[in-house]
Amino acid sequence: MTEIGHNWGLVGHAWAVDFLTRAIVSNQHAHAYLLSGPRHVGKNLLALRLAQALNCEQQTANPCGTCRTCKRIAKNNYPDVRIASMATQAAAAKGDEGTRQRDLRIDTVRTWLADITLRPYEGRRRVFILDDVERLTDGAANAMLKVLEEPPPYATILLVAHTAGDVMATIVSRCQRIKLRPVERPAIADWLVAQSYDAPDAERCAAWSDGMPGLALRYAANPDESSAIQQQLDELLGLSQRSFSECVKWVEERNKAFRAGEQNDIYAMLTLWQRWWRDVLVTAAGTHGQLTWVDRQADVVRVARGTGVEAAAHFLHDLALATKQLRENANPQLVLEHLVLRLPDRR
Ligand SMILES: [Zn+2]
Repeated sequence: MTEIGHNWGLVGHAWAVDFLTRAIVSNQHAHAYLLSGPRHVGKNLLALRLAQALNCEQQTANPCGTCRTCKRIAKNNYPDVRIASMATQAAAAKGDEGTRQRDLRIDTVRTWLADITLRPYEGRRRVFILDDVERLTDGAANAMLKVLEEPPPYATILLVAHTAGDVMATIVSRCQRIKLRPVERPAIADWLVAQSYDAPDAERCAAWSDGMPGLALRYAANPDESSAIQQQLDELLGLSQRSFSECVKWVEERNKAFRAGEQNDIYAMLTLWQRWWRDVLVTAAGTHGQLTWVDRQADVVRVARGTGVEAAAHFLHDLALATKQLRENANPQLVLEHLVLRLPDRR
């Protein structure tokens, strides 16, 4: 029996599941889909569920999740589902070459599509999933165009992109587009609770995830990662209590880390700091925006009372500017020193 509205084990994206289920039922599914949306929103899981739905032994247009085919697809151990990505490309590379690769190459695409003209070995349809599509070189994208123009009758191509804007227009125009958006916070929290996480933890992880279920689950499943985030926030909040020379020392350490290649950690730190000050701003302004630091509301209120709307808004602007300057290769020591000097709640 076909059940429309079955959620495929995803959180959010019900419209996409409905849309795909109806397409399978009416046998009008596209030969190529482009699934786009931010990292951790659920694109890869949706692609995998669609591959299962197209091949599930129950033939209900939904993945049953329990038949041998569904299980083997979930384990990436099914001959009719082929997955390629930056990660599989890196794994196939020699030595440490994989870690230096920045693009999806033509060879990867050719290998991935090598036997696309063959009939399915075991299932009803052959499904080709390509992740990181925004990283395709022009050559690799062109190599794929021909297949997208005249796909073999048994093949379904699922392209997954984090930023559809970076995908070649000629590819986009040949696919049915499915754009996934961030998921509502309560839905993510409920989903975590259903997986036996404590309600306060679920609430906190959902708040931190910014609508990305994959990220929320990662925080919930890795308490160490969660405490590292809390510690980093404590460190940032502690800066306003420290002497200027201590702050300069702190900046020197960050500068060293940045120059040693840990740029992404510094950007993540600035994002975390921005979220804190956004909470302060929202609270100081008395608006009812959703807070990120749901478990630290008392601290947010205290700082908001001490600094006020204007100072919080200015510092948020300073944080955004600092991030921009670092990306434009400004001197990290100077940029971070400037930030610490302008901390609005400095004693
Ligand atoms: Zn099944």
